[in-house]
Amino acid sequence: MNDFGLSIWGNSNFIIENGKVCINSASKPAIIDIVKEIRDDGYRGPLLLRFPHLIQKQIEQIHASFAKAKKEFAYEGKFNAVFPLKVNQYPGFVKNLTSLGKPYNYGLEAGSKAELLLTMAYNNDGAPITVNGFKDKELINIGFIAAEMGHNITLTIEGLNELEAIIATAKERFKPKPKIGLRIRLHSTGAGIWAKSGGIHSKFGLTSTELIEAVNMLKKANLLDHFTMIHFHLGSQISEIHPLKKALIEAGNIYAELRKMGATNLKAINLGGGLAIEYSQFKEASSRNYTLNEYANDVVYMLKTITEQKKEIQPDIFIESGRFISASHALLVAPVLELFSQEYTEEKLNLKKNNPNLITELIDLYNSIKPSNALEYLHDAIHHTESVLTLFDLGYVDLQDRSNAEVLLRLIGKKAVVMLGNKSNSSDLEKIQKEVQERYLVNFSIFQSLPDFWGLKQNFPIMPLDRLDERPTLPASIWDITCDSDGEISYNDETNPLLLHDVDVEKEDYFLGFFLVGAYQEVLGMKHNLFTHPTEATIELTPQGYEIKDLLESQSILDIMEDMDYDVYEIQDTLNERLEKSELINDTQKKQVLGELYLFLNDNSYLKTIN
Ligand SMILES: *Cc1c(COP(=O)(O)O)cnc(C)c1O
Repeated sequence: MNDFGLSIWGNSNFIIENGKVCINSASKPAIIDIVKEIRDDGYRGPLLLRFPHLIQKQIEQIHASFAKAKKEFAYEGKFNAVFPLKVNQYPGFVKNLTSLGKPYNYGLEAGSKAELLLTMAYNNDGAPITVNGFKDKELINIGFIAAEMGHNITLTIEGLNELEAIIATAKERFKPKPKIGLRIRLHSTGAGIWAKSGGIHSKFGLTSTELIEAVNMLKKANLLDHFTMIHFHLGSQISEIHPLKKALIEAGNIYAELRKMGATNLKAINLGGGLAIEYSQFKEASSRNYTLNEYANDVVYMLKTITEQKKEIQPDIFIESGRFISASHALLVAPVLELFSQEYTEEKLNLKKNNPNLITELIDLYNSIKPSNALEYLHDAIHHTESVLTLFDLGYVDLQDRSNAEVLLRLIGKKAVVMLGNKSNSSDLEKIQKEVQERYLVNFSIFQSLPDFWGLKQNFPIMPLDRLDERPTLPASIWDITCDSDGEISYNDETNPLLLHDVDVEKEDYFLGFFLVGAYQEVLGMKHNLFTHPTEATIELTPQGYEIKDLLESQSILDIMEDMDYDVYEIQDTLNERLEKSELINDTQKKQVLGELYLFLNDNSYLKTIN
């Protein structure tokens, strides 16, 4: 049985039972049942399911690992975590995160004015807020207001000009002041495709010279006692642990040096994010070389060792993990609309009385193919079909012959896959898989729902939600419904050897799950072709099973037009006027058409055909 790599990327969140993907909870609900329940209420496009229990699990794991590490090394600093809003600002995620994080004093991180205002509204009372990224005077002002409201906020400055603005603002505002953090520029860089945020050439942070200057400026402004934290961030999805260790040594030493310069309230090191998760569906391409426990142990051990050497107090540890906390909580489910070669059936053959020789040979291959010769016959069939296409270009065979050749090749391919799939040694099967790919048209947009696949070729685990007790036989390329040729996840025998089932979607539903899409994908999603954020629902586990909550339908076409600053009244009026003016239909017909237009405008763009 093929588990689609669930044992690699699944983190025990899901299990397969009776051929279905089920939530790994006491009652083990099947995801396909949840999906069908929602679809029965009329929601037909792609669905984004949120699982708050998986947010809770990640929060608990991160705290448990650091608690264990602290105990093991008798570490004295505290552990704190904040969630960086840029990773997922959707209310369906944020509100769950803050309520589930409350017992852990879980905080939020903001990187812009809008995010900062969100943290001020939703952050748990007393939990930390950190603010990173470029700041103007206005943003700094909002940070001061947060402190005045009673928030436990730290403004991390990225450059000396920001510090100047903070010093000026401090003179103007009321008494409560935010804490100040300094982002340090490390020599160390991370590893992985998102490693750009670290290193001496990174976009952010203060050099050694600037750090010294910053401390002097703070002293002079009488604000040194507000300086409490240093911060660094090596980039997202750090694939190897080694660069983190180097960064910790660097940061630990900077911490100790700054304290020796008189920054005695400096008591925290903020490691930023970067904690990786496993996306790989195929073992060969593992995404990271460490576990959470190893990460926590290394951080605690390194900071303890350095501060002991330097005879300084052990700092509180702040972490800004985004991907690790949010990725697993969301699952996109999309129906397969069509298998492109499904129409290649025997009925579609329209053989002539006298067929060209090559067609006759293809028919022979189709009739006499057997397991012992399947691979060889398939190759012959490919060769013959190519010859037929050449003859067609030269005008020697007609369109009907060409059609027959194409159908026969697909039929031979399907027979070959089944024959070789049943043999115990399937290396022959692997050889032909590249050549008999099936294209699955799926009711979703890669640009909207998997933008990191489009932009960075980041793979996400993909698997069907049922039929997992049947062997999948077709090498699958996934096509989304945008009219952009980049909207494809193609089969690749090395990096993405995805096999799916041979299904007749006119007779039965077939749903694909795209897993681990809860980090970055939602907000980076683009409205290409005007497809919007899919319909979402929150699935809460109950002792008996589950409850579907907070169902939020995908935006309507009018909503998208409004988002794009169209005047939607103008659009409706113009459509109306044009319809009125038409002399091709009568008034009763016009009334009906107007009603139809109204419905379409108030529905979303995803396809409704068949499935
Ligand atoms: C993006 C970002 C994070 C989150 O990184 P993850 O890899 O998602 O954990 C944390 N801190 C800062 C400063 C960031 O820019």
